[in-house]
Amino acid sequence: MPQTMKAAVLHALRTPLAIEQVPIPEPGHGELLIKVTACGVCHSDLHAVDGDWTPPPVIPLIPGHEVAGKVAKAGPGVTGFSAGDDVGVPWMYSSCGQCEFCFAGMETICKSGEATGYTKPGGYAEYMIAPAAFVGRLPAGTDPYAMAPILCAGVTTYRGLKRTGARPGQWVAIVGIGGLGHIAVQYARAMGLRVAAVDVSAEKLELAKSLGAEITVNGADADPVAIIQDTLGGAHAAVVTAVATKAFEQAILMLRPGGTVAYIGLPGGKSDEIRASISAITNWELSIRGSNVGTRLDLNEAVAFAANGLVKATIRTEPLERINAILEDMRQGRIVGRVVLKLA
Ligand SMILES: [Zn+2]
Ligand SMILES: [Zn+2]
Repeated sequence: MPQTMKAAVLHALRTPLAIEQVPIPEPGHGELLIKVTACGVCHSDLHAVDGDWTPPPVIPLIPGHEVAGKVAKAGPGVTGFSAGDDVGVPWMYSSCGQCEFCFAGMETICKSGEATGYTKPGGYAEYMIAPAAFVGRLPAGTDPYAMAPILCAGVTTYRGLKRTGARPGQWVAIVGIGGLGHIAVQYARAMGLRVAAVDVSAEKLELAKSLGAEITVNGADADPVAIIQDTLGGAHAAVVTAVATKAFEQAILMLRPGGTVAYIGLPGGKSDEIRASISAITNWELSIRGSNVGTRLDLNEAVAFAANGLVKATIRTEPLERINAILEDMRQGRIVGRVVLKLA
C-alpha cells in the first residue's frame, strides 16, 4: 500500500483548498481505514470552508461527509467488517453512546458527537478513517457515485420527512429544490406523500416535477404561501432545505391547521433568526421541529430506499482537483442536483 494519499486540505477559513499529498492514516482501535471511491459535495462543506458556523471546523481540515468506498483495513477490535466491504460514511462521525440522547436512539443530538469533514478529517481524500460502529453498510455492488449523496442529503431529508409525521396520501411542501430538496421529493413520493415543490429557480422546479412533484411554485414570481393555501388548503407537512431565512418563515404559513414543518437546511452566517406568528402557531396547533442529519437507523433505512431504486440523486462527477470551482458554483447557487467527487 502507498504511504501517502491525495487530499484537498483547508488550511485557513475562506481560502481555497490545497490539493496535496498527506500521510495515509492508520486505523486505531474500533476504526476502519476506508478507500474512498466517491464523495458528494454538500452545502455544509461550503459552510465549513467559509467558517459560517460556530464553533468553526478543526483546521487543517479535509472536508467531505458523503462518502462511499471500500474497507481497506480494519483496526484492532473491529468485528463484522472485512477488507473490500462496501461502506458509507455520513456526517455523524460518532456519538458518545452513553448519554440520555444516545440511550434514546437520538444520537443526532448527542452533545459529544464528532462530525465527519468538520471536527474529523473527511472524504475529500483517497483514504479516511471512521469508527466501525458508525459506518453505514452499503449493499455489495452498489454504484458508489449514485449512493454517495444518500449518506447526507438522503438520510437528512428522509429523517426530516419522518419527523413531520406525515402519512401516505398527505401533502408535503418541499421548500428548496437543491441538493437536498430534489432527493426529498423522491423520498416523499416513495413514502406515499404528495409533493408541492417550492423554489425560485424554474430549472430546479422542472427537476422536481420530473421526480414526481404534483405542484410546483416559483417563489420568484408568485407568493408561495398564497398558492399552497389556495390550492391545497395548506400542506399537512413541510420540509425546508432552503438557505434563505424567508423560506423558513413562509413554510410555517404554508401549513394547514395541525401541520408540522421540519427544518433541515441551515442558512449559516448572521441570518439565523426567523419571525413567526405566535397566534397562528397556537390557534392552529402548528409544530416546528428541527431535524439534524440522521441516526444510524435512519441511515440504514435511507440506504435501503436507494438500493431498491426508489431514490436516485441527480449527480455529476468531477475530479478532486476541481473542488474550488465546484464550491464557487455552489456559493453562486449554480448547481442543479449533486456534484460527486470521483476519488477512484
Ligand atoms: Zn451534508
Ligand atoms: Zn451521547
